[in-house]
Amino acid sequence: MQYFLNGYRKGDPRIRPAADGRTDDQPDLPGEVDVLIVGTGPAGLLLAAQLSEFPDIVTRVVERAPGPLEVGRADGVNCRTVETFEAFGLAERMTAEAYWVNQTNFWGPDPADTSRIKRFGRVQDVRDGPLRLADVRAQLYGVHVPLHDVVARDVTAVPVDRTHETVTLTYADMNAYLRAEGEQLTVSPGPPGQVKITAHTTLVGHALSVSADAVISEVAGHLKITPTRLATGGPLDDASRVLLGRRLAFDVPTAPLPFGQRITSITPGADSIVIEAAGQHIVLARPES
Ligand SMILES: Cc1cc2nc3c(=O)[nH]c(=O)nc-3n(C[C@H](O)[C@H](O)[C@H](O)COP(=O)(O)OP(=O)(O)OC[C@H]3O[C@@H](n4cnc5c(N)ncnc54)[C@H](O)[C@@H]3O)c2cc1C
Repeated sequence: MQYFLNGYRKGDPRIRPAADGRTDDQPDLPGEVDVLIVGTGPAGLLLAAQLSEFPDIVTRVVERAPGPLEVGRADGVNCRTVETFEAFGLAERMTAEAYWVNQTNFWGPDPADTSRIKRFGRVQDVRDGPLRLADVRAQLYGVHVPLHDVVARDVTAVPVDRTHETVTLTYADMNAYLRAEGEQLTVSPGPPGQVKITAHTTLVGHALSVSADAVISEVAGHLKITPTRLATGGPLDDASRVLLGRRLAFDVPTAPLPFGQRITSITPGADSIVIEAAGQHIVLARPES
């Protein structure tokens, strides 16, 4: 409705009519203009689009190329470019037609063997860590929204009888988090209900590979990973066992769950750890503005 506030008109409602005295024709270049834009690349067209908002300023654009480019020069559009498109009301349409890339790799011929290609660079768009969650599913049961509030567009609070969430944390993401935190530990599937932790460490000056089965529990806003059975491939005295056990233990902070929800189970699987949470008698309230 916002497009037809002052009556219906045919055509694309997003294209505004030309200002009085202006036409869509391409008249001959006048002898005098206020602004002459040379070139119809992004810079020239952006300026022309902006100046089109000011019909009193006589603007012309000239281009030496006989027609549009035969091969495009924009395989990728940067986030900042999308922001510029937003100013022109074009961003939504462009992102709908585009494929969203978070990370770009650059490959070229390998100088050592030009029959092969080699990766030369990687532009990372999202930083490593904090902990990435592969999948988060939330189910709300018994959602009460008074129809009156919906019609009046004034929904301020939505009571929910109970909630159930399932979060999937892959071992790959857990290990990426540990690396980002500077921990030299690797987590992989363990025996049923447990994970396996491996590390290369030193004990009284000797390099040592150590692994342990470990349980995961939730303790005061943390996932606590506690080794249960150490294996070093050789005998260990009690003091070394305690010391290595401490080195393999670690915590992963979990932000307090919203709406007083609580973690109900943590299940290590073949590829990931599945964490379930639940809540009861929750009121989703609109934040104070
Ligand atoms: C192969 C290739 C791939 C690219 N890929 C990407 C990409 O994926 N993403 C990205 O963001 N950028 C990309 N770029 C860069 C991007 O195309 C340029 O940064 C951008 O086009 C620069 O815009 P511009 O308006 O400054 O200049 P241009 O786009 O070069 O526009 C200048 C215009 O002025 C015209 N002109 C020049 N002199 C005259 C004259 N005397 N009279 C009349 N007209 C004239 C030219 O014909 C041209 O149309 C790529 C560039 C190339 C070459």
